[in-house]
Amino acid sequence: MARGTGATSGTGTTSGTGTTGGEARGRRVAIATQTLRARVASGEWPVGSRIPTEPELCELLGVGRSTVREAVRALATLGMLEPLTARGTFVRAATPSPALLTDSLAAYDPVELVGLRRALDVDAAQTAAARRSSGDLELLEAELHDETARLRAGDSRDAASHCSRFHGIIARAGGGRLMADLDAALASAFRTAGLDERIASGTDVAVRIDEHDRILTAIRGRDVGIAAHLMALHVDAALRSVSHEPVVTELTTLVASPRSPRTRPRSARAS
Ligand SMILES: [Zn+2]
Repeated sequence: MARGTGATSGTGTTSGTGTTGGEARGRRVAIATQTLRARVASGEWPVGSRIPTEPELCELLGVGRSTVREAVRALATLGMLEPLTARGTFVRAATPSPALLTDSLAAYDPVELVGLRRALDVDAAQTAAARRSSGDLELLEAELHDETARLRAGDSRDAASHCSRFHGIIARAGGGRLMADLDAALASAFRTAGLDERIASGTDVAVRIDEHDRILTAIRGRDVGIAAHLMALHVDAALRSVSHEPVVTELTTLVASPRSPRTRPRSARAS
């Protein structure tokens, strides 16, 4: 995804003092973008929720489809919205991921990007296990339920981005704004580099869902150590799909918990 110019794109050239069609359109897009952004920022459309459909947005904003699309695209570029094929557009962050950060991350090698995700997500899993609310658990359960239902239905649409979404909820569950912003910027860099697809094609979906389920169980049980350990193993599996080098959990011996994660029951609510 190229860096979007959002509300100011497509105005073309102007001359004189008159208002061109392009300028008027640019203003409509800017107003529509601001209106959508305000609803997301205020929490009226909370993170994780689906925003109204395109026809509903046209009605709400009093503008045409192309204006709505451009406004949604502008907020997607900021990491606040994510349009998913045939499913609608979802709120991903209440604040824009810093554009500079997103652009900076895009310059790095995929192995380093996944490595950064590992560092962030291991910490995020620990923090989420310690601080998660019941609302966080509901979001994680809903995402896992959706991922599982799609696997069973053989529906592979947007399957690659499930991991980023699940991890984004965990990053936000920790409560830190910087962590959430970093995660959103990283998710955006992953999309730009096509990393979600690469990782999805290099890992087994059923295994990934099982790993998510175990991580969720640890977070639900406030098991900080297990949550971190499972997240490290999980992201290392992703790292293996983009790197030929041995990953950290293959190089070191991690202390296994007496309560082995492999013997823990699957979450009843996740199926
Ligand atoms: Zn994942």
